Amino acid sequence: MKLENRVAIVTGGNRGIGLATAQLFTQHGARVAIVGRDEDVGRVALESLHDAIFLQGDVTRADDCERIVRETVHAFGRLDILFNNAGIILRNRNIETTSEAEWDATMDTNVKSVYLMSRAALPHLRATGGGAIVNTASYVGLVGFPGLAAYAASKGAVVNLTRAMALDHAAENIRVNCICPGSVETDMIHDAWKLYGDVEQAARVWASKHPIKRIAAPQEIAELVLFLASDASSFVTGAAIPIDGGITAG
Ligand code: NAD
Repeated sequence: MKLENRVAIVTGGNRGIGLATAQLFTQHGARVAIVGRDEDVGRVALESLHDAIFLQGDVTRADDCERIVRETVHAFGRLDILFNNAGIILRNRNIETTSEAEWDATMDTNVKSVYLMSRAALPHLRATGGGAIVNTASYVGLVGFPGLAAYAASKGAVVNLTRAMALDHAAENIRVNCICPGSVETDMIHDAWKLYGDVEQAARVWASKHPIKRIAAPQEIAELVLFLASDASSFVTGAAIPIDGGITAG
């Protein structure tokens, strides 16, 4: 039980990487608030979790972020872990074909949310004597990728925001790290395969891009988040860790 007596917030916790992480967190003794926009999806997700609540909210809105943190602390009495994982992707766009609204939505969801949620959470992490923030970046935050201009910019920003936050809060025993996944089998990837046309062919192409010749299961990503959220990583802060089947090693 690596997270006994810990309380965590997982944004985008109602499906995909977030839900797999929330499940692993609760298996390790944590009480978890999962956050998502869709009430029905959240209700279904809760059925696979013990000691968890669902909080509906939009992490691009400051008032929602403050309420999410407030309601979590009200429900569980403390806060130890914040997993800033909610994100969106805009595919097949360079900067000329990205509208201003699409750019803003990508930056607000992927970057501003980390700022807003962390700002709301920090006083509570400090009050518990320290804590862990884990942000979901992407391997596309470490290298460029064609057709993902806004997404790559947003995930690159998450990587460097992680480093800046780690330095700002290290002396308070608040560790801040980010994960940089390669492709992971979630709705986000299935949507990409649908865009491609032939879904089975797309799945093969996506797998072949990774030196390990497959994409990840969400549970494999959750294991790294668990490590970063737990005391097992007590000397790790400011790290941007690729978990990408070797894609950024080349
Ligand atoms: P997903 O689409 O299954 O989940 C995204 C989650 O974010 C959903 O729960 C959604 O409700 C939530 N969300 C989006 N906008 C939100 C908002 N404004 N407010 C509250 N919640 C919001 O995708 P996933 O693959 O599980 O992605 C999780 C994270 O992992 C994202 O940040 C994504 O960019 C990143 N990522 C995914 C992959 C991949 O291949 N799937 C690879 C690298 C990084």
